[in-house]
Order: sequence, then C-alpha cells, then structure tokens
Amino acid sequence: MNFELNKLVRANVAKLKPYSSARDDFKGDASVFLDANENPFPTEYNRYPDPHQKKLKEKIASIKNINQEQIFLGNGSDEAIDLLIRAFCEPGQDNVLIPQPTYGMYTVSAEINAVAIKTIPLTEDFDINLELTKKTWDDHTKLLFLCSPNNPSGNLLDLDKIRILLQEFPGIVIVDEAYIDFTNYDGFIPLLNNFPNLVILQTLSKAWGLASLRLGMCFASKEIIAVLNKIKPPYNINGITQQIVLKSLEEIEQKNKWIAEIIDAREFVENELVKIPAVQRVYPSQANFLLVKITNAKSVYQSLISNGIVLRDRSNVLLCGNCLRITIGTPEENKMLISELSNL
Ligand SMILES: *Cc1c(COP(=O)(O)O)cnc(C)c1O
Repeated sequence: MNFELNKLVRANVAKLKPYSSARDDFKGDASVFLDANENPFPTEYNRYPDPHQKKLKEKIASIKNINQEQIFLGNGSDEAIDLLIRAFCEPGQDNVLIPQPTYGMYTVSAEINAVAIKTIPLTEDFDINLELTKKTWDDHTKLLFLCSPNNPSGNLLDLDKIRILLQEFPGIVIVDEAYIDFTNYDGFIPLLNNFPNLVILQTLSKAWGLASLRLGMCFASKEIIAVLNKIKPPYNINGITQQIVLKSLEEIEQKNKWIAEIIDAREFVENELVKIPAVQRVYPSQANFLLVKITNAKSVYQSLISNGIVLRDRSNVLLCGNCLRITIGTPEENKMLISELSNL
C-alpha cells in the first residue's frame, strides 16, 4: 500500500487554521498572566490547563516506550473515536467499516457524524472474516475499526489477519486495545512505525482504574496525531485529570497487582460458571469480562437485577443470542454472582 495521508484527510480539515489559545501564542517565561481572561485570584482551579498535556505525554511516552509526538490524549477514547471520524470522513459521502459484534461507540459516533457504516459479521468464534472484509470496502471507506481483545466477546483478534489488513486496507486501521493490559502480549505499539496507517487506542478506564477521570490514549504516526491535535477542543483534558493521572501513573505496581487479581478471579468465575446447568458456553476471554451463553438470558438478567446484581445484556447483539457479559468484580462480588446464579 502506498499510503498518502493527505488524500485521506477531509479537505476542510486540511485547510483549517486551528484555534490558537492564549497559552499557545505565548512562548517563554512570565509571571503575570493577563492573556486568558481568567480570574486572577488564586484558587486551585483558576488557570486553564496545559492544552498539550506535556507532562502527561512525557510520562506516558516513557511507560509505553513511544515518541511524545505519537501520542494524542482524549476525554476518554470516545473522544478520539469521534475525532478520527470527523478528521477523515466526509458526512454523507464516506463510510467506515465495523466488524460486528463490537464496541458500540464506533457506530454511534459514525451515526452522529452522518457517516455511513459498512457492517461485516465476525466469524462464529468472533475473529476477523478476512475475505468478506476485503470485499466490503470501497473507494469511500476511510476507517476500519478493529477491537482486540474484542468487546463483548473478550478474544484477541488474529494478529496475522490484522497485519494483512494493515497492508491492504486503503484507509486507516484503528486497533482498539482498551483491554490490552489483561492479555500477555504487547499489542501493536511495537509495530507502530512499520504501518503509517495504524492508529492504536488505549484507555486508563479499565486496568488503571481511572474511568471517572476520562483519559483515552491514541497512538499513531506524528502526522496523524497532528491532524487530531488540529481539530480537538483546546482544553480537552481538564487540569484535575492531568494532575491525578500524572500521580496515578507512578502506581504501576498497584495496577499490575489488580490485573493479576482480576485474571485469577476471571478463572475462578469461569470455573464456577461452567458448573451451572443453565450455562451453555463461556467464551474464552483475555479481558476483564466474560461473555456467557445461558438459557433464557433475558430472564436471568432480570432476576439478577431484582437481586441487586447488574450484568450487560448482549442477547440482542449479532452472534450473541442468549449472551450476557459479566465484568469481573471483587472476590466477594464474584461469589455473590455465582451464588445468585446457582439459586435461579
Ligand atoms: C471501555 C472501552 C473503551 C473505553 O473508553 P473510554 O472513553 O476511554 O472510557 C474503549 N474501547 C472499548 C472497546 C471499550 O470497551
């Protein structure tokens, strides 16, 4: 593939002169800031945050072993998903490719932006259907969303198939690695510089335990990152998030401990689930959740809710008939779930 980024970017985005914030215009040392119409009386929060999140990117660059210019930070990965669609897809004209079943936000974001969606079913074991995918894209297909490990099925997609798509897909391949920390593999970051059309999404919302702060990470070539920076809201990562995340990223050992405990607990829940007669199938998972096929899923879902336990009902989703998605909880929560399920 001869990859030309400027042919993929929307013309209005290519032409755009981005908003220049007060703190962008100023370079150097100063102690009197009368440039941003802030309240001058010091509270903890009276100043605008760093629009480029320099300290945060420095830290993430060292953790992920990646160049700072190859990092975009969003108000959750959801913001990165939306900006990718807005950067590359002309409403009413372009389309995106979304294998199903997968994370719902790709579809919602495309629909919000009036961008058409081409749906391809995954295989029965939730892997990429390579031939069908290749047949489905056309001259207006700009983005291909791949989620690995996939939500809601929990499996990693076949790496060789992703590689083939990176080589052959004429647009941008987005690999969403929200659950990569729960797998024992490095994901696509080590291959970032081999593929100019690769975008990787990760998040602090899952393994790192920071969902409330909203911090999504996007890794790509510095050219793609520059396009996202051009169209983002200037202060998209608030100051408190930048501050707390910077501190939390020091706690790698805590995060790794959580991951190990969650993986152990996933094994426990899986082993207990298969003993329950109504459970037909527990799909193999490399994430912090299990997809479970169970007799009368909807009524099981309702009964659990009346006992105060809420799962994710995926039974109306393609290839997921009678399936519930169970997030791995604390040991106590997992035991409560298993005991309620056994009593049904
Ligand atoms: C949870 C999840 C995200 C996380 O999104 P944030 O906006 O960063 O919280 C992204 N992708 C997938 C597949 C997810 O399941």
